[in-house]
Amino acid sequence: MLEQSDFIFQDERFADIQLLRYQVPGFKELSLRQKLLIYHLSRAALLGRDILWDQNGAYNLRIRQVLETIYTQYKGNRLSDDFQQFTIYLKRVWFSNGIHHHYGYQKFTPGFSKHFFVEAAEELGLDVTDLLPIIFDPSVLSKRVNQAEGDDLLLTSASNYYQEGITQAQAEAFYTKQKECGDRQHPIMYGMNSRLEKRSDGTLYENTWRCGGLYGHYIDRIIAALKDAIPYVENQKQEAVIEKLIEFYQTGNLKTFDEYTILWVQDTESQVDFTNGFTEVYGDPLGLKASWEGYVNFVDPIATRRSHALSDNAQWFENHSPIDPRFRKKECKGVSAKVINAAILGGDLYPSSAIGINLPNSNWVRAEYGSKSVTIGNLTHAYDEAAKGSGLRQEFVIDESTISLLNQYAGICDELHTDLHECLGHGSGQLLPGVDPDVLKAYGSTIEEARADLFGLYYLADEKLVELGLTPNAEAYKAQYYSYLMNGVLTQLVRIEEGDHIEEAHMRNRALIARWTLKNYPQAAEITEKNGKHYIQVHSYPMLRTAFAELLAEIQRIKSEGDLPAARELVEEFGVKVDKDLHQEVLERYKELNISPYKGFINPQYKLIYDAEGNIADVEIHYGEAYDHQMLRYGKI
Ligand code: ZN
Repeated sequence: MLEQSDFIFQDERFADIQLLRYQVPGFKELSLRQKLLIYHLSRAALLGRDILWDQNGAYNLRIRQVLETIYTQYKGNRLSDDFQQFTIYLKRVWFSNGIHHHYGYQKFTPGFSKHFFVEAAEELGLDVTDLLPIIFDPSVLSKRVNQAEGDDLLLTSASNYYQEGITQAQAEAFYTKQKECGDRQHPIMYGMNSRLEKRSDGTLYENTWRCGGLYGHYIDRIIAALKDAIPYVENQKQEAVIEKLIEFYQTGNLKTFDEYTILWVQDTESQVDFTNGFTEVYGDPLGLKASWEGYVNFVDPIATRRSHALSDNAQWFENHSPIDPRFRKKECKGVSAKVINAAILGGDLYPSSAIGINLPNSNWVRAEYGSKSVTIGNLTHAYDEAAKGSGLRQEFVIDESTISLLNQYAGICDELHTDLHECLGHGSGQLLPGVDPDVLKAYGSTIEEARADLFGLYYLADEKLVELGLTPNAEAYKAQYYSYLMNGVLTQLVRIEEGDHIEEAHMRNRALIARWTLKNYPQAAEITEKNGKHYIQVHSYPMLRTAFAELLAEIQRIKSEGDLPAARELVEEFGVKVDKDLHQEVLERYKELNISPYKGFINPQYKLIYDAEGNIADVEIHYGEAYDHQMLRYGKI
């Protein structure tokens, strides 16, 4: 076996994707019991993959089956242009868990001919007639999640959370009624774990994801793997968490889900932790229905010290936040923060993964019981290594002194910004009494991300961080201020195809913050042109902080008061539209650099090792699996 390090950064590239291998430092040092816990929870994290594929689009599972059959059994010329293009298409579909781009949501355009596809399928006895428009006609199911204002967001989105034909108005009316009838103080996550469907008489009902219900077959297998993990739990709290999750999967009862998240948020002592289930709502244009994801992690003790320094001071940060005191939380509770290493990524966290996670999503559970925040250290590290020496800074940063500022401090400040965003930002502030947490509708996610980012930006420049030993000196924050503006205005545009608008909530938030700042504080920073190329020029870093404080106060007001018109105006003016010329320029500059704008991860593989008597002696970790092997293997799990 080759040494692990030989594999870490050996990557695979196709289309706009680069795959990285992440290492799992510290796994070997865990006890056998902990390794076995991770082993079984990892299996549970991989078993819901097909749920996500179906959530992402009604045809995804069938299309995958056809593509994989052709990929493994095609007898024709594998070096032909058609087959090469077919392979790229399949790799993209694997990466996105469906036929739409994982980030931009637009449908992929196949680079191979319809003729090739039909012939290859026919030779293997597959009838693909009904799939042809789904794959080849750009006007059919063109977008997975459409957020364009004025459109019916359900009729124009291809995601599979609502039965075909249900309109946005019908679904909104259905859930408004549920909310009105329900507990206002402790609302459940309405609609989170079901597909909304229509009876023959036209009335709507929820087809719930649970044992014996929709996706029951997958859920049974997840439950079996969770049960296998129980003998290896670290303590009783952890056991209670797993058992409550199983009860939720069995019943689909959303009150049970809240009980589960409360138990989960209260288990802060276990070294091994996991998420398994219906979690994030970005894939639903109405922000209600949660995609399936699973991951397993364990605490990295050294890096955790850094974020503890933040969470121990959560109340100080809350009290000094530049917002209207009415919107401050009187008591900042349980913002538990730790740096973890991912052991496995599954469902909506695979292969493309978040680097910070903050759960649960229920506002009242967060307010009364707190939340768990994590920065996934080993993934961040893999990104950093991949970014080094890419030439990006030489191309997009205005001058040598700023480049050296970034080279010196961008890494540490970026990690710290993620910590502030996750540990403090999302957990800060409060809604005024009676404000519906979903009132900002389609703008809610962008406003929430902007709030957390601005909280982080504001405090990065605070001397408190130097005092706590988190930033090396009072200048370091400038690196993050510069790279944040550069990303929001320029470099993140590479993730968007020509002619498209910005759709994704985190990207909208970055554009919103950066462009609002340039427009309202030209004396702090502006965009300038040098030799036909555009750059961010910062005139005053302290004044940038003033700008971020002002915008944070306004965004917090919008959130606390539930001011939908103001949210719409801000997001639509600064977060959505793309300057065509600037966009084209960024795409061309990037092309020269030959960097993949999106990255994702290949999972390690865990194997049980037995001794001569047939007892389990160890769990080994292996890093060498090829991307296509892993994908094909997961298809058969
Ligand atoms: Zn966030």
